[in-house]
Amino acid sequence: MITVKTPMVDMNGDEMTRIMWGMVKDKLILPYLDVELIEYDLGVQMRDQTDDQVTVDAAHAIAEYGVGVKCATITPNTARVEEYGLKQQWKSPNGTIRAILDGTVFRKPILVSGVRPMVRSWTKPITIARHAYGDIYKNVEIAVPGPGEAELVYRPADGGAPVRRVVHTFDGPGVLMAMHNLDDSIRSFAQACVTYALDQRMDLWFAAKDTISKTYHARLRDLFQEEIDAHQSELDAAGISYFYTLIDDAVARIMRHEGGIVWACTNYDGDVMSDMLAAGFGSLGLMTSVLVSPRGAYEYEAAHGTVQRHYYRHLKGEQTSTNSTATIFAWTGALAKRGELDGTPEVVDFADKLEAAVVETIEGGTMTGDLARIAEPTPARVASTVEFIDAIEQRLRHKLS
Ligand code: NAP
Ligand code: MG
Repeated sequence: MITVKTPMVDMNGDEMTRIMWGMVKDKLILPYLDVELIEYDLGVQMRDQTDDQVTVDAAHAIAEYGVGVKCATITPNTARVEEYGLKQQWKSPNGTIRAILDGTVFRKPILVSGVRPMVRSWTKPITIARHAYGDIYKNVEIAVPGPGEAELVYRPADGGAPVRRVVHTFDGPGVLMAMHNLDDSIRSFAQACVTYALDQRMDLWFAAKDTISKTYHARLRDLFQEEIDAHQSELDAAGISYFYTLIDDAVARIMRHEGGIVWACTNYDGDVMSDMLAAGFGSLGLMTSVLVSPRGAYEYEAAHGTVQRHYYRHLKGEQTSTNSTATIFAWTGALAKRGELDGTPEVVDFADKLEAAVVETIEGGTMTGDLARIAEPTPARVASTVEFIDAIEQRLRHKLS
């Protein structure tokens, strides 16, 4: 048994990923590690029972202990409210956790030889850094029922004169939205990106729509540039370049780029582009995600959702072939960080071995359906959810013996 010094926050979730969560813990983590897990059940029923307090508690626990690992969770929509008989459409747990921890989400694909990215030029991972605060995720919206005037007003706390802008004079029904961001959050986002780029020795890109949004997006661009300027000598010493461009241009360039860069994105762009990148690199099952808080807390998870369609097949007793790679890498990412913070190289080594066991299992031809579809050569057969994890367990045991 390898001892993990500091407790880790373990957040369970929903549907097919909840099924895999149990398997991964029982077969790949708990038999080998003496670790105290501070457990929170973020499954949608528990969130409903506790009026979502459990999510808030989990976020504070991550801040307290420093490292957490999270299973995918349902973000309820109207269909989910009906399906689970929920009191209300609870907010996205990830949104709640991000709002409490602030910070930046880095999404990085796992590259496996034999599974070729859909985009041929991508030979190295492209990490998306998503600013995890504000914009439409903290918006205020009004459904405008009919004619009237919409205004944006800022009232200074010191009693100074209010600043007002007419948004639109409605002749008929429409919609209205206001959003915001904070200088501190933008700065800490830029800082996290610089730190990550230095740590990973990768060039850094940032893109926004400052040609259209000459105040809001321009502010993002300028504050980001200030952080770059503050770290210019470190970046130069590491041979890392910084490149700012318009978001449209960044998207076009990325499709012909070889990769090996950190692409910093505004909140919405990061949300959308990370799914595009995951699909482009092969499968959502190969995309990992970490939220890095400026207060030094880390939350690891798979980038995909609860894989609902597979879960319904599972409930009918049918065999599933769901890829647990990103879920396992959430655990290894969290363990490696815990080991780094605790100064316990044996924990980091365990995480490395488990990651290698996963990659070698796939490279050895045992893989789930999502990968089998895009693998070269095509494997003779597709592994089930359970068979894939069992094959990894076998390799891991061999590596540790
Ligand atoms: P999803 O769970 O990511 O699944 C979308 C599709 O991608 C699946 O139907 C499957 O395709 C494929 N896929 C994703 N992960 C896979 C894996 N590990 N192995 C194999 N195939 C995989 O997204 P969704 O269906 O849009 O969302 C389902 C639920 O997840 C929603 O309630 C949503 O709120 C939630 N969600 C949570 C998070 C999070 O907690 N971080 C993120 C996104 C969504 P095929 O069916 O074609 O095989
Ligand atoms: Mg998304």
